[in-house]
Amino acid sequence: MAGRWNETSCNAPAADVANFRAAGPSSNQSPRKIQSIAQMSFSSNGVGGTSATPNTYVSPVAHFEPVQRFEPEVERIAKHIQSIWATWKQSKVLTDTLSCFFNSSPDPYTSLLQLINIISEDRLKGKATSMAHTITEEFYKWIKFNESEYEHVLTEELKIQAFKMVLEKKINLNTINTIVKIFKCNTRLDCMEELIRESIKQKRFKEACYASMSLNIQDRFTVEDFLLPLFFMNLVCVTEEFLVTTKFQQTALVKYLDDLLVENDDCLYFLANRLNVTQSNNNFSNKSQIKTNLTRIMKKYNIPNELAPNVTRQKKKGALVYLFRRYQSGATGIHAWREMALESIGNDETMMLEVVKMLEHFGDIQECIYFAQLFAIDPSLLPPTIQQELLFCENASAGIDLSIPTEEYNTTEYHDLSLPDKQIHIIDCATKFNEFLDKINIELFDAHLDVFGLDCEWKPELTSDKSDLASIQLATIDSIYIFHLPQLQPAESFKLHWQEFSMNIFSNINILKLGFEWKGDASMIRSSLPIDNIQLHGPGFIDIKLLWKELETKWNFQLPFQSPNEDITYNSLSDLVKLCFGRPLNKTEQFSNWEKIPLRSNQIKYAALDAYCLLEVYNLFKTKCETSNIPFDEVCQKISNNDHPDMMKPKPKHKKHKYKVPKTNIKSKSPHTHVSCVKHFKLLVPYTLEKLAERLRKCGIDTSIVERSRINDSHYIVNLIKTNNLHFIAFGHAFSKVAEKLHTGQCYCVQNHNLDDQVQEVLNFFKIVVKKEDLNSRCQICNSDSYEIVSSLVMKQIYDSVKIIENQRAVRYNTPFDEDYEDDNFYGDEDDSDEGTTAPINAKCLTNNSSLPEEPHSKLMSGYTNGNSMIDVKPLSADMFNDQNRVFYICNSCGSVRWDNLQWESALGSSLGMKFK
Ligand SMILES: [Zn+2]
Repeated sequence: MAGRWNETSCNAPAADVANFRAAGPSSNQSPRKIQSIAQMSFSSNGVGGTSATPNTYVSPVAHFEPVQRFEPEVERIAKHIQSIWATWKQSKVLTDTLSCFFNSSPDPYTSLLQLINIISEDRLKGKATSMAHTITEEFYKWIKFNESEYEHVLTEELKIQAFKMVLEKKINLNTINTIVKIFKCNTRLDCMEELIRESIKQKRFKEACYASMSLNIQDRFTVEDFLLPLFFMNLVCVTEEFLVTTKFQQTALVKYLDDLLVENDDCLYFLANRLNVTQSNNNFSNKSQIKTNLTRIMKKYNIPNELAPNVTRQKKKGALVYLFRRYQSGATGIHAWREMALESIGNDETMMLEVVKMLEHFGDIQECIYFAQLFAIDPSLLPPTIQQELLFCENASAGIDLSIPTEEYNTTEYHDLSLPDKQIHIIDCATKFNEFLDKINIELFDAHLDVFGLDCEWKPELTSDKSDLASIQLATIDSIYIFHLPQLQPAESFKLHWQEFSMNIFSNINILKLGFEWKGDASMIRSSLPIDNIQLHGPGFIDIKLLWKELETKWNFQLPFQSPNEDITYNSLSDLVKLCFGRPLNKTEQFSNWEKIPLRSNQIKYAALDAYCLLEVYNLFKTKCETSNIPFDEVCQKISNNDHPDMMKPKPKHKKHKYKVPKTNIKSKSPHTHVSCVKHFKLLVPYTLEKLAERLRKCGIDTSIVERSRINDSHYIVNLIKTNNLHFIAFGHAFSKVAEKLHTGQCYCVQNHNLDDQVQEVLNFFKIVVKKEDLNSRCQICNSDSYEIVSSLVMKQIYDSVKIIENQRAVRYNTPFDEDYEDDNFYGDEDDSDEGTTAPINAKCLTNNSSLPEEPHSKLMSGYTNGNSMIDVKPLSADMFNDQNRVFYICNSCGSVRWDNLQWESALGSSLGMKFK
């Protein structure tokens, strides 16, 4: 050990050690330091250590081997520290010991270097790196308080020594960073750069890489200096650590690797030789691996395709070959093929020539000539066969037809759309979107609007560039809506439209949404629409593919055009349609440019049918199940519940966020500065937020509802708000129509889909404080705040008398002479407000009520409220009266009964936090 110490690059260790030993008793050291040294020498001699060392630990002296020969002091300290480390790791005792050591040294900087030299040599014991790290950190903390005292010892020579050590020892990056800070190596950048270059020559690429990072001079080096060698050496994690710190080097590397792709095949061999690395069997040894690495780096650091023209071209060529093969086999139409070819070639002249050559290679002379002429390629560059062909055409003055041949949608070969074209609506502007929302708002709960077919389209991804969602198709039984997103821009101005769409359709569990392989569409919608928290799974959603599989495998389900032992893969909607209706879907537009404005009529038809056929299939399934006694609804429910949210986690967002707008902070902004009690607010909500209204009433807040027939009449709504001094709550487009005519504090746009969250939002926005006595103070059904509170005992009597009345009526109306059809509605509909005008059966109660105030419930006992509404006991059951302490609230206006719902109260209480007393 001692010998090795002297061989290290640090100079004059012997002198330092001598100084260190001599420092204690003599000269100008402070008493504190003298004490420290005494401790150190004392304990290291193995005598009386316990008493002298800090009182928090048992001295590790006991673990020491007896000192048998002379060792330099630093080495002895190093051993001592190693021993502390072995027992205590990073600890107060280690901190104290190190401070003692540094305090006692006349040149603590040199001492630190010596210490780390010894520690980092000692690799056999492991942990050397973390120990070196801890020691360095401790020193850094220590020197911060003592810096001025030792300024003079931090010489330029020492800085260089420290940096040399960084380049020679295997030290981790964090430690290096600290050492560089301690020794202020950044004050001599040029000199340090020289040292790094020196170590590159000695093949210390990793050290050079880290050193350049610690000085933040990454960009002084070229890709060849250490980055490529590290790739050759398979040290990918080091290159990642490096690249993440410098955009400049990311770009440089991408350009370099991209250029390599078009070099000849043995370029890598020569490169490795030139860079002084031995090329082994690694993941950087052939061009396809270079391509893989390049693609990965581009993806990771979002490097645009323009910076790597070669790899981008190669990918596009691959994709074009695929598209061409589809076109050749008839799976893609000629429009779709040409459109996508043009889209991916763009202005790239190299690519133009290559595509023409590719087409010649595949023997499609017609397409070859089409593109050659379209791109006006110099004939001398073309393959000889094509040159001749062109010459022939010219000689025959036949000319070449550049127009795209018309494509007939073959209705005999493929399944066709049964709706007329006028039922297909392209939603491509705000006006049409508004019309759609207005229509949906009214028809939403109509019986015929309970199942939707949903499908999405986006442009095929030819390179690593992610496509954005281009179209959402929504099919009802009599209309199809195609939302063409490239035309619904900028996304931000459609935020409220999408919010309303999402709340009314996606989040509405009363509407069944059908998809096929829905997960892919759902994640595309999630990452593309400018709204958060879209509900796209669970109740209300059915993946037809899963339903199909379930019916086939569990219920022995046979489709009309299915042969008995047919092997089914369940992967293709087209196959499913064929098995259902005899003909497959025409998929020739599937791989087309869905971002094209406007869409072609064939694209529109394809898109419409893709969504509509889901409804057709669903209806066929339903009918077949009914005739085969399969419990269709149960199966559907199972499918939709199994569609577990965990499987639907949004995938990482697309890099471009073209349709994504930043989160708004509407939620946190409230123009209301003071908190108010429940009584101060009268709210108005559209009927689409009926459930929210019920909750708010439960909190005691006066909440009226805009009925369905007036929902689109913003003039009426605004008038209502102004004359009655109401506050308005809505969402989406319906909100914005009204909000623009009101002042900011007067209306609130609901952000959340979840009911509890909505209540929260509203209370927060209007700063309404709900107290315990407010709960249940208003009728959920009719919004009246006039009610009677009765005990269990009284409620039981009311319950019994209502039952008797009902029985009497049943007897009366079931008598054979009752022929009045209209009267049948009478007892079936307790909520009817007209009922209050009917004379109560027990008229005596009226007088009882007014003349005997000590019996306030006698009117109620008769089964009627003070407002003469029959008390609705339907939600009650006899066993509820067993709880003597239960309290019931009877609405005087509509006769509905509510009771304390402790669970809900406590949930509300805790979620309202401070606001709830
Ligand atoms: Zn009521």
